[in-house]
Amino acid sequence: MGAIIFWGIIRTAILIPVLWLLYGVIEYRYWWWLVILSIYGVIIYPATIQYRLFKEENDELINNTLCSSCRYFDKSAIICLKYDEHPTLKYLPCEGLDWELKEYDYEEEKY
Ligand code: SF4
Repeated sequence: MGAIIFWGIIRTAILIPVLWLLYGVIEYRYWWWLVILSIYGVIIYPATIQYRLFKEENDELINNTLCSSCRYFDKSAIICLKYDEHPTLKYLPCEGLDWELKEYDYEEEKY
C-alpha cells in the first residue's frame, strides 16, 4: 500500500510542473480539461490499477492464512506488527507461536 501512495506522490510531483508549463501554452478553457483528465489518467487511474493488483496478489494471504486471523496482522500493509516483517504464503515470522485471535465482531460476523 505504501508503494501506491509513494508512486502517486511521484506522479503528482511530475504532473504539477508539467501542467504549470502547459498553462502558458494551452488556451485557458482547454487547460482545465487537461488538468482534470491528466489528474485522472496520471494519478487516480494508475493508483486504482496498482491497488487492484495489490489486492489480487495478496488475496490468499489476507483471507486464508494463520496471519489473517491474528491480531498482529495489518492487512493494509501485509505486515506482522509484532515482528515488523512481511509474512508470505511460505514464511511465517513467528512460526505460529505468537498467534493471537483478533477481535471478532459477533454482530456482523466478521473480523
Ligand atoms: S504474530 Fe505470527 S501469526 Fe500473528 S501476524 Fe505475526 S507472524 Fe502472523
